Amino acid sequence: MTVGDTIALGGQVPTIIAGPCAVESRQQILECAHAVKAAGAHLLRGGAFKPRTSPYAFQGLGVEALSLLAEAGRITNLPIVTEVMDPAMVETVAEYAHVLQIGSRNMYNIPLLRAVGNNRPQRPVLLKRGLMATIDEWLLAAEYIMVAGNPQVILCERGVRSFDTGYTRNVLDLSCVPMVQQLTHLPVIVDPSHATGRADLVPIMCCASIAAGASGLMLEVHPNPEAAYSDSRQALTPKQFQDVVRQTSLLATMMSHESAFAREARTSCHYEEVLPGSV
Ligand code: PEP
Ligand code: MN
Repeated sequence: MTVGDTIALGGQVPTIIAGPCAVESRQQILECAHAVKAAGAHLLRGGAFKPRTSPYAFQGLGVEALSLLAEAGRITNLPIVTEVMDPAMVETVAEYAHVLQIGSRNMYNIPLLRAVGNNRPQRPVLLKRGLMATIDEWLLAAEYIMVAGNPQVILCERGVRSFDTGYTRNVLDLSCVPMVQQLTHLPVIVDPSHATGRADLVPIMCCASIAAGASGLMLEVHPNPEAAYSDSRQALTPKQFQDVVRQTSLLATMMSHESAFAREARTSCHYEEVLPGSV
């Protein structure tokens, strides 16, 4: 699948989507866009419409944030991923963004799934797994988008709810990555930021996600995490993000060499040769 005209998703190189939880100001998003671009991100994320649990929490800057994102994307040459929450806003968001995100809380929102399935110009849709969704429910939500006419769906695992909320925000279900790959042709990426809720756990879970075969990562990065308006505990600094990109790309390269080696060994090895005592 090609995103934003040039970014190939689902190949050997993991696709990295990075940026702040929310667009907070022009300076913040520009600073963040430059930092993630320099570190090797392929797409820029940033919330304009935030689906917050509390109505008193920061709700995002709305359309103003969309134009700030578009400006940051133009300057850094990064395609934009941002969430759309309202079917009536799909067209507007699609004017600014290259990928439309459906958040976890909206995975069951059928009118919204239909609207992004119908969007013109047709933008790929990044579909987050619902807070408590089974794999079947998640894949059927993807079907809603596809039967409405849009085959370009990217699945994003972002952790599911469990009983232990003491340490991590959610439970990152990494086994769903190879499972879903058996069930569908759609690319699957992982968001360790929302899955763990903790910046200290994000880098190692990024490596684990790539090792599990994910086609990419979605990560929250903030120039000054402590000052972030939302999700400050899970945001990586630009330096931490740079280390994650370096580690995961080394890991992905190693894994692709390893699978090429395994393929080669399989095709060049004749069964008889390895059987002891065979003639
Ligand atoms: C987000 O990516 O900004 C977000 C709100 O994530 P989720 O829908 O996974 O909670
Ligand atoms: Mn967030």
